[in-house]
Amino acid sequence: MAAVLLIEDDQRIRQALATRLAERGHHVDSVGRALEGVTKAVEGSFDVVVLDLGLPDMDGSEALRMIRAVSAVPIIVATARDDEDEIVAIFDAGADDYVVKPYSAAHLEARLRAVLRRSGGDGVSRTITVGELTVDLDAHEARLGDRPLDLSSKEFELIAYLAERPGTMVSKRELLAAVWKQPYGGADKTIDVHLSWLRKKLGETASQPRYLHTKRGVGVKLVDPDP
Ligand code: CA
Repeated sequence: MAAVLLIEDDQRIRQALATRLAERGHHVDSVGRALEGVTKAVEGSFDVVVLDLGLPDMDGSEALRMIRAVSAVPIIVATARDDEDEIVAIFDAGADDYVVKPYSAAHLEARLRAVLRRSGGDGVSRTITVGELTVDLDAHEARLGDRPLDLSSKEFELIAYLAERPGTMVSKRELLAAVWKQPYGGADKTIDVHLSWLRKKLGETASQPRYLHTKRGVGVKLVDPDP
């Protein structure tokens, strides 16, 4: 389904992931060193690059910047640190998405599908469905059941970002970095306001949420209200 370049120095992880992704129909090329990975990434015709941040010969974020400087290939970063600063830095350096180690092949594949969906990879549906909510990335339209939602551009991007990772709590800083491209933090209020507009359009309230669930000081997640 996709041509994947896996840059990961841990041989066990590399082989296991390459095998699992190949079983799922992907074409996988894998390397253990950053320099070789950067060279392949910028030369090759990969649909997506999976880059481990902890590599022996070069800092992974440096490798990320090197690839990004010359290529628009979608990059998913694998990080061992699950903290906001790290994730914001990853987006700032040009990553499209991230996974936190240890992660399963199924989880990586979900992130692969999300970045391929955004980049319009072959054979990947560009429509996301969560419950009654449908988000069409090509048409830039969202519907709730049969009802089209009249969303601003940022409201659309926000709901699309959340719908791509249903059930996952996403921090406001991550949203500012990924959707608003403000890695150094904008106002949380920006997100609060957009969320309240979205809620209104979805016909729900903060006190009686259906799709959008916020947790004070943690973030927001989009869920299927009737799974
Ligand atoms: Ca590593």
